[in-house]
Amino acid sequence: GSVIGILGGGQLGRMLSVAASRLGYRCHVYEPGAAPAGDVAHSVTTAPYEDEAALRRFAEAVDVITYEFENVPTSALDLLESLRPIRPNRRALAVSQDRIKEKSFLNELGLQTAPWAAVNSEDDLRAAADRLGLPAILKTTRLGYDGKGQVKLDDETDIPAAWASMNDAPSVLEGFVAFEREVSVIAARGLDGSVACFDPGENIHRDGILRTTTVPARLSPAQRADAVLVAARILNALDYVGVMGVELFVTAHGLLVNEIAPRVHNSGHWTQQGCAVDQFEQHIRAVAGLPLGDGNRHADVVMENLIGDDVNRVPDLLKSRDTAVHLYGKGAPRPGRKMGHVNRITR
Ligand code: ATP
Ligand code: MG
Ligand code: MG
Repeated sequence: GSVIGILGGGQLGRMLSVAASRLGYRCHVYEPGAAPAGDVAHSVTTAPYEDEAALRRFAEAVDVITYEFENVPTSALDLLESLRPIRPNRRALAVSQDRIKEKSFLNELGLQTAPWAAVNSEDDLRAAADRLGLPAILKTTRLGYDGKGQVKLDDETDIPAAWASMNDAPSVLEGFVAFEREVSVIAARGLDGSVACFDPGENIHRDGILRTTTVPARLSPAQRADAVLVAARILNALDYVGVMGVELFVTAHGLLVNEIAPRVHNSGHWTQQGCAVDQFEQHIRAVAGLPLGDGNRHADVVMENLIGDDVNRVPDLLKSRDTAVHLYGKGAPRPGRKMGHVNRITR
């Protein structure tokens, strides 16, 4: 096909559009919120996911549908899937939309996660805290990102307020992992089943938001191989097509999977300056049925997100000759809003 439909008009959709353009495709973005970030898609539908006529017109105008945002409602997906292929597939979406489904899937594959328990009431939370011990983190099972919808419990006195802050949303309590570091693997699987992984990146978060990703990550050769094998196992089990972000905790007892994202991932932005084929081109190649790039890394890179007022540093950042600046074309900076990122080549 020659038109790629993208659900979601944020910066990830924007960077996918740029990559698709370079490969000679046109993109049609479907965005239920305000206008998309920037202005690079070839056409845009701004309509809610409940608008069946708009969804139908969108699907009929494209050859394949992908997404940059995993919380698309099931009803919209049912309609879209009846008209065009959705890649990555529905199972990958269903698993990653719900933290309990996700952890169950991972554990059934034999992969380690933080110990966890489903929580639907304050009594559940008490029992879960008893079983897992504290500290622990309570997260809504759905719709959380950038650390939103989660709260840390340090001791039992935190239980009532923690449960109250969930607004009765189905939740999961996770034992707090005393990790050595956080890394992620950006992995891709093609329509032919071939898998290519990028080198793991080491991630630093602040206030629940990714600040920097550094490659190479500080991992032993065995840990690096493990990380890649974990990612490949997940992709194969889901019969996945596209790019996935796999977030991992590195501990003394091996790697734990924190969560998976069935899309291009913020911690993969370094590939834009570190690889011949970056994660965005890789994803477009996969969903379009083209051969994948090899994932090899040709530089050491530090990716730094520009969050809120960080964007005021852009004039200075532009003066450093080893740094590529990526801006998302969003409006005014707000605290916590991702405005852009920079990739600095360190070697
Ligand atoms: P994202 O924006 O990556 O989707 P999210 O809102 O889904 O974020 P998580 O990835 O679950 O949130 O958690 C955000 C960060 O909080 C993690 O990267 C990690 O630093 C910390 N964290 C989450 N869960 C745990 C845990 N069980 N133990 C220790 N730290 C944790
Ligand atoms: Mg998440
Ligand atoms: Mg995360």
